[in-house]
Amino acid sequence: MATIEIKVPQLSESVSEGTLLQWKKKVGDSVTRDEILVEIETDKVVLEVPAPSSGTLATLVRNDGDTVLAEEIIGTIDSSGKAAAAAPAVAAAAPKAAAPAAAAAPVAATAAAAPAAAPAAAPAARASTSPAQQSGTPADFDVIVIGSGPGGYIAAIRAAQLGRSVACIEEWKNPAGKLKLGGTCLNVGCIPSKALLASSEEYENAVHHLSDHGVGVENVTLDLTKMVGRKEAIVEKITGGVEFLFRKNKITWLKGHGKFVGKGEGNIRIEVSGEGDTKTYTAKNAIIATGSKARHLPGVPVDNKIVSDNEGALAFDSAPKKLAVIGAGVIGLELGSVWRRLGAEVTLLEALPAFLGAVDDAIAKEAAKQFKKQGLIIHLGVKIGAVKTSKDGVSIAYTDKDGAPQTLEADRLIVSIGRVPNTDNLALDAIGLKVDERGFIPVDEHCATSVPNVYAIGDVVRGPMLAHKAEDEGVMVAEIIDGQKPHIDYNCIPWVIYTEPEIAWVGKNEQQLKAEGRAIKTGQFPMLANGRAMGIGKTDGFVKMIADAATDELLGVHIISANASDLIAEAVVALEFKASSEDIGMISHPHPSLSEVMREAALAVQKRALNI
Ligand SMILES: Cc1cc2nc3c(=O)[nH]c(=O)nc-3n(C[C@H](O)[C@H](O)[C@H](O)COP(=O)(O)OP(=O)(O)OC[C@H]3O[C@@H](n4cnc5c(N)ncnc54)[C@H](O)[C@@H]3O)c2cc1C
Repeated sequence: MATIEIKVPQLSESVSEGTLLQWKKKVGDSVTRDEILVEIETDKVVLEVPAPSSGTLATLVRNDGDTVLAEEIIGTIDSSGKAAAAAPAVAAAAPKAAAPAAAAAPVAATAAAAPAAAPAAAPAARASTSPAQQSGTPADFDVIVIGSGPGGYIAAIRAAQLGRSVACIEEWKNPAGKLKLGGTCLNVGCIPSKALLASSEEYENAVHHLSDHGVGVENVTLDLTKMVGRKEAIVEKITGGVEFLFRKNKITWLKGHGKFVGKGEGNIRIEVSGEGDTKTYTAKNAIIATGSKARHLPGVPVDNKIVSDNEGALAFDSAPKKLAVIGAGVIGLELGSVWRRLGAEVTLLEALPAFLGAVDDAIAKEAAKQFKKQGLIIHLGVKIGAVKTSKDGVSIAYTDKDGAPQTLEADRLIVSIGRVPNTDNLALDAIGLKVDERGFIPVDEHCATSVPNVYAIGDVVRGPMLAHKAEDEGVMVAEIIDGQKPHIDYNCIPWVIYTEPEIAWVGKNEQQLKAEGRAIKTGQFPMLANGRAMGIGKTDGFVKMIADAATDELLGVHIISANASDLIAEAVVALEFKASSEDIGMISHPHPSLSEVMREAALAVQKRALNI
């Protein structure tokens, strides 16, 4: 028999491994030269592997879902036309890196029965050190994560990187009924909202601002179906990316709803109800990452036709003429901005008397000025009364800040009054856990609950409801499970509001520091005096830095400007490294760039800004 090896092609200079997707042929099938036999997915591309010769597929050395290396042999073809005697699916000579744990790991047996997209077994190298097999009664997994939002999926990946056998339970279905990973953030939160913000900004630029650059565009049209379709395509791609990462890291996706069953013999028992079957799994450690859901107004049902929550507002089929938004917080302002740019008259009703109360006063004042200039109508200090809907619209009764009764009529209403932690049907009591009075799972500064080996992260616990905070907690908990001693400085977590201009900050604001009685000095520099800002036509806003009056340590950085979401990263580094304003003032910044305003604001703290 003439045996021809089927090899993984060179992937790229920077990529050395990929995931073998599905063999299109089975052992014994005849193949023709250059026929595509299988695809290899890397984090950059999907590559096709053609048959190197005609003949019969003799052996498959690698199976669907295996991680494979560039140039690795994944199968053989008998080019003499005769099939090899039924070769085992996984050759004994298969390289160690991707050899399945096989019978050694109970994980393999359990997970194989699970409706998992990923290969069930942990790699042998991992299984041999797997705590799930080492201490007490063996468990199906070292770690089970409930929820695959940015907290859960990142926790799962980090735990897998550290050699743990990991499963992640996820029940999210998209409107087409397809199960999806990625949670709120990737499906109906950060990613789709930023896609629509970007598209609506392009539209607004085309209609109002391109002429400033001497670019004439006439008859600008809006194809909302295409715009929303683009957003959905991005969601599809990025959630598919998480599936790829799960395969790459050998994380088992348990599809369905997870709930605790109990604890015993050192393991936590979690039941997963999927489509048509229910199965209980055991784990040494559990990470609850079940996120949050939109808070609704009592008595005002969300139908996502007339009344939407902050998730439904990402999928309007037409731009309303008049849009009411209850809640002028981060999400209300972002969604209000999208639909204002697309032609709606937008009125935001906010119960709190102060605009953007968590933001530095100077920034909030500038934001209110900018948003008013753009045409957003914002009423503060209101009390919402009866909300009546009809098939054509909605009528909202409220009292204004002076106590006078008012009514707002609109075609559609977005209720954006915050989000509540999600512990629906999780049966926390089965393991002795309770939520606090606001529905959060109580945890310590390391996200440990009161139950040993059970952690909770992300929106379901205290702290800001931000994707990157959830991610940081996911990494921290996985490393704690690994025996490391990580730590998060919550003061260094940045905040961003993706309006135009963007608003971003890290650390404390001036009013907080004054309330603490801290002696501070501040410096501010306007975008108006920056050459790059002039070039791109985005001269609104400024950067404000606050430093300790005696030591000069930076205590807070507050930005309202174009690209504030990127500019703030420098400030995060500065606060993490306990830099002084002088440090930032000394560092070279590229010219011309918006980042020069960071340096100038730092110099302004020392009353020596150069370009003003
Ligand atoms: C419109 C909008 C825009 C946003 N924009 C931003 C932004 O720009 N930047 C930012 O930082 N944050 C933003 N956020 C907030 C961000 O989405 C959340 O902070 C983040 O998603 C929290 O991550 P998480 O992992 O804690 O939970 P989630 O992302 O909520 O994920 C939880 C997952 O757990 C699953 N789940 C829950 N219970 C179970 C169960 N029992 N069994 C199985 N699965 C379960 C859910 O299906 C869900 O997929 C936005 C939110 C919204 C709504």
